Amino acid sequence: MKHTRKIGLLGGTFDPPHLGHSIMALDALEAAELDQVMFLPAAVPPHKRDRVLTEAGDRLAMLNLAVAGQTGFLVSDLEFQRGGVSYTIDTIRQLREMHPEVTWAWIIGADTLPELHTWKEIDQLLDLCELLTVYRPGVDSTTREPSSLRLSSSSAEKATRHWIQGHGIGISSTDIRARVRKGLPIDSLVNPAVAAYIEEHHLYR
Ligand code: ATP
Ligand code: MG
Repeated sequence: MKHTRKIGLLGGTFDPPHLGHSIMALDALEAAELDQVMFLPAAVPPHKRDRVLTEAGDRLAMLNLAVAGQTGFLVSDLEFQRGGVSYTIDTIRQLREMHPEVTWAWIIGADTLPELHTWKEIDQLLDLCELLTVYRPGVDSTTREPSSLRLSSSSAEKATRHWIQGHGIGISSTDIRARVRKGLPIDSLVNPAVAAYIEEHHLYR
């Protein structure tokens, strides 16, 4: 039987990418037996439109540095190319059309589960791809329960079906930006090449 390739998509702002992203991607790769994880930086994230993001070019460059040389990881600039607000459903439809032979999964951190009901066409999205949720420290264990989500019962069941406990790394981009602003070191929290890029380009000052 022919093996269909299964690719996990990890969307985010990656402002900046950190080791929590790489480790959750590895956890998902192994737990869901993915062939690859594709990191997908959002051009304009639907839920962060009130925040000023670092330029697309810088976020893409940092992400490429963060995953360089890591087996099974790749970066796609598809949402930058498309431009505008980056809705996941649009991305999935576009990728399914481009690569009909691939099975797609969408990877989220557990903090994203409670806001899924605000996503564009979430019921359709859950029909088109498997959702993989990776545990994130600080997230209440009740978010795993379908009844805690503001989704239809069939969507809530699909959204909570694939739970990945993983390494549970409590790193966030918000914390890294705050540390840079305060002049605190970030070397152990991001890939060294990303730390060097942030320093060189005076980001997050
Ligand atoms: P910010 O603090 O700016 O929101 P972030 O660290 O949450 O940044 P995002 O780019 O928002 O990073 O995250 C992209 C995806 O990765 C989201 O689904 C998020 O839940 C998940 N994620 C990020 N960091 C972790 C982590 N340490 N553990 C598990 N999931 C994570
Ligand atoms: Mg986030």
